[in-house]
Amino acid sequence: MKKSVTIRAFKVYGAYNPKYFPLKFLQILFHNCAPYFNLWLSSEIVTALYEGRGRKEVYILVAVTLIGNLVIHSMGALLYRNTDIQLKLLENEEAAAFNRKVLSLDYNKLEDPKIRQHRRKIIENAWVNFYGVQQMRHRMEILMESLVNFAFGLMLFGEMLSAILRVGFRKTGVLLLAAMLVCIGLNVVWNFIYDRKLSLYRAKIGEEMLEENRLGNVANTSGLDNRVYRQQDLINKLDEKCNKKHLEVFTEAQRKGFLYSIPTEAVLLAMNLCAYLIVVFYCVQGAFPVGSVIKYVGYLGRFTGSIGNFFRLISGMKDNEPYLQTYLDFLDIKNDMYQGSLAVEKRSDKRYDIEFKNVSFRYPGAEEDALKEINLKLKVGERLAVVGVNGSGKTTFIKLLCRLYDPSQGEIFMNDFNIRKYDYRQYLDIFSVVFQDYALLAMSLGCNVAAAGSWDTKKAERILEEVGFGERYAQMEKKLDTPIYKNFDEDGVNVSGGEAQKIALARALYREAPFIILDEPTAALDPIAEAEIYSRFDRIVGDKTAIYISHRLSSCRFCDRIAVFDKGRIVQIGTHEELLADVKGRYFELWHAQAQYYER
Ligand code: ADP
Repeated sequence: MKKSVTIRAFKVYGAYNPKYFPLKFLQILFHNCAPYFNLWLSSEIVTALYEGRGRKEVYILVAVTLIGNLVIHSMGALLYRNTDIQLKLLENEEAAAFNRKVLSLDYNKLEDPKIRQHRRKIIENAWVNFYGVQQMRHRMEILMESLVNFAFGLMLFGEMLSAILRVGFRKTGVLLLAAMLVCIGLNVVWNFIYDRKLSLYRAKIGEEMLEENRLGNVANTSGLDNRVYRQQDLINKLDEKCNKKHLEVFTEAQRKGFLYSIPTEAVLLAMNLCAYLIVVFYCVQGAFPVGSVIKYVGYLGRFTGSIGNFFRLISGMKDNEPYLQTYLDFLDIKNDMYQGSLAVEKRSDKRYDIEFKNVSFRYPGAEEDALKEINLKLKVGERLAVVGVNGSGKTTFIKLLCRLYDPSQGEIFMNDFNIRKYDYRQYLDIFSVVFQDYALLAMSLGCNVAAAGSWDTKKAERILEEVGFGERYAQMEKKLDTPIYKNFDEDGVNVSGGEAQKIALARALYREAPFIILDEPTAALDPIAEAEIYSRFDRIVGDKTAIYISHRLSSCRFCDRIAVFDKGRIVQIGTHEELLADVKGRYFELWHAQAQYYER
């Protein structure tokens, strides 16, 4: 399996833009045929002059050289431009495919620390050390160049060999050819060792640099915190440390590269010397005319160099394989959660009966269950409150309801079928959720409310009015086209926390899903403001089933039923009055503990 890593990665990567590699090959072909063409014609011109052929023939040869160069270079430039565009498309598609993979991951996998680390490693390998698919592309390009040079060289080598065979090898010639072969062998072996050593060294320092870069990235904190806590000094020091390490590593890598290159240069020099001697020797022996000396000497160096390069690349590709494997392993992560195919019936009566049966759930790697034996039936059209102190399992309950995670034990049913059986997208369409850490997009207000590129203006405006955004909206000149935030637009508006919440609430209402869930999006507000928003919101939701989550009991007292969560269990369920009547219950205890904050 290991052997095919590069080939598989190449197939996957090449498919991101199938035009790129064939076009690149053509460009390399044109780029590399220029020197051979010139060597060949120069040798013809010199031979023509040497043999005293007519001026006309020499002029024709010069004209062919000029026109040929014009054609080759124009084609080369054209191909270069196109390859560059195709490369951009390839890189864009590669990044998009990686993002698509991340976005399509099961939520539990996206949150899994091991998978997060896996993803970070791929990004760091590429950015910091240039390992992975980019390295493979780079090496493939050099490999193509070596092969093209090798092919051109082989043609000329064949031509030279047949010329030599005509006059016989001769003793000195055999010795020189043997010396040349030894030099090629040395070059191959050295290149193999050289590249391997450099690669291993780069991999080692790459790992060290990852740590340094992580430290450097600590600087990505809020600009406000930086100023208030005077974090600049701390961050500057980390930056300095990181830059110092970069410089050290870079200098050392250059030094090592220089040391390794000395034997390479020596062998190349010896190889070129042999090439000169061989060509001159056989020319003197009458194997070929004097003009051919230019041609053969010129290509022999390239030919032998391409053999060394070839081996160097093969060894380099091997060193890149673990990084390619990391990349492929990430693409191979299988989604196993959202495989259901059952269609969710579209019901105008919104009768979607949901029931939790004995559901327990433990987060991956956690020591304790976050939810324990939950049994709950959601009644259509009811207002259900989910209350409890922080960490009691309220959000986890919603995450399971939305199938962001599957229960570790027990089952959740909708209209008598396990929710796993439903097509996930259709299932998700029946919910509108405003999470505690909701986020708005730096796009137009309309985009944010409709969660789409186009919207129903009347509906969006009505909902914005209903959620209490009307006054602010009236001040917006561009209405629904007003860009939210100034990230991409100078005319963008910065909305306050409360306004952002209203937009998030409007987005949830715009979707018209049968279930609407508010998971403490108002936690940053004071208890009275939260209670007001919740009860106002409740007047708008109509006949939808609404679930309100809060750690503040007062916000939810209007609900039909209140489920009290404590340490992952539902410890009580009933109306506010019923629950408060149980003086030994958790609700009573919490109510009185919190009452001081919101009793008016
Ligand atoms: P609540 O919404 O009531 O504040 P949560 O449902 O967020 O509570 O959390 C319930 C428990 O699960 C807590 O102990 C919390 O630390 C834990 N928990 C929440 N999210 C994760 C997670 N992604 N990984 C591991 N444990 C988690």
